[in-house]
Amino acid sequence: MSESGRVVIVGGGILGTMHAVLARRRGLAVTHLEREPDGRGASVRNFGLVWVSGRRAGPELALALRARELWESIAADAPGAGFRPHGSLTVASNEAELAVMREAAALPDAKQREFEVLSAAGVREVNPALQGDFLGGLWCRADAIVEPRAALPALRAWLAATGPGYEWLPGREAVEVAANAVRDQSGHWHRGDLVVLCTGANFTGVAGPHLAASGALAGAPGAGGRGLRRVRLQMLQTLPFRGRLATAVADGDSLRYYPAFDVPALPSLPPQAAVAAASRAQLLLVQRLDGSLTIGDTHEYDEPFAFDVDEGAYRHLLDRACALLGTALPPVQRRWAGVYSEVTGTPALYHRSLVRPGVVLVTGPGGRGMTCSPAIAEETFR
Ligand SMILES: Cc1cc2nc3c(=O)[nH]c(=O)nc-3n(C[C@H](O)[C@H](O)[C@H](O)COP(=O)(O)OP(=O)(O)OC[C@H]3O[C@@H](n4cnc5c(N)ncnc54)[C@H](O)[C@@H]3O)c2cc1C
Repeated sequence: MSESGRVVIVGGGILGTMHAVLARRRGLAVTHLEREPDGRGASVRNFGLVWVSGRRAGPELALALRARELWESIAADAPGAGFRPHGSLTVASNEAELAVMREAAALPDAKQREFEVLSAAGVREVNPALQGDFLGGLWCRADAIVEPRAALPALRAWLAATGPGYEWLPGREAVEVAANAVRDQSGHWHRGDLVVLCTGANFTGVAGPHLAASGALAGAPGAGGRGLRRVRLQMLQTLPFRGRLATAVADGDSLRYYPAFDVPALPSLPPQAAVAAASRAQLLLVQRLDGSLTIGDTHEYDEPFAFDVDEGAYRHLLDRACALLGTALPPVQRRWAGVYSEVTGTPALYHRSLVRPGVVLVTGPGGRGMTCSPAIAEETFR
């Protein structure tokens, strides 16, 4: 990083923006390109969960814990990101779910996650908005929340305040790469000591030829399903809820999807409701700063993805949320789907590869990208 001291970043999602933040913290100049007027990808469509609880023990947990630490310090500079260390409660509706939680809470890393198994009364004490029918829950005090729709502008406001060394260029699509450089659609070349492509789940476009030639895509012939794939999720947001949720909330179905809960009791979970199994649904519930509730999610792996959203999955998630809160929900104000890229079939936590000399592609953090983005950016510069 000795020539110009400039980094060119392509992509205004959370990965690109955190690379910009970490670069500015190192005193580097940043040119930041985004093809849309603002980030429109997975980073503004997610729950904003800084989710430590479900991460696999070892490098994945270490990355999430480091990211949690970085988020806290970065959000102190950018309070508009809405960071709050509110923790989460995963609520058990049957004994089998409670048994999984007890085993996870007895593991050596439970202390780092700040796990505690609670009775139903204990759950209500921590989060009095949960007035439904359940047996208990797992409290993870290490989890946190940020505001997905506010975080990118808030981080950019901090970046802009760092001075003329930060240049934000919306409406610029990178269309060609060369050593240490990228060309946008207007023909302008942007050069730096390093170019970082954070182009999200876009597997064609500027990173496409590299991804295809390097065999990085899980669906490529001979890849054996290992590598990068895309996943589509359905989400919704209600109008403001009259109560205050003291924590983020998950239902017992989430135990099936997070590797931290891969404990001996896991296979004893009863089958999921058919509609949940069909859409690989789990309930995650996060209250936004304005009181509204973000509710999701589902998981679709096979492309081509549906272009429309499935109401059956939504009904299931809304019923689950009602059952845990023990009350009717406010009307839904928005529904949307989002797509993220993830590495699958390998121990890698995300994908980083050299596209050209001085040009690196960083993508594929999957459902942990909002959480891990600052730590991933730190690793790029390290
Ligand atoms: C519904 C949903 C819920 C999720 N919930 C969570 C959660 O609660 N916690 C968590 O940790 N993770 C969560 N995730 C995952 C997380 O959102 C993603 O891993 C993360 O946002 C990926 O960030 P990104 O910057 O790589 O991608 P994106 O946010 O998709 O950003 C990529 C950006 O690059 C731009 N771009 C692409 N190509 C070009 C080009 N050629 N030139 C210029 N710009 C370009 C795009 O326009 C886009 O703005 C969720 C994801 C989804 C979809």
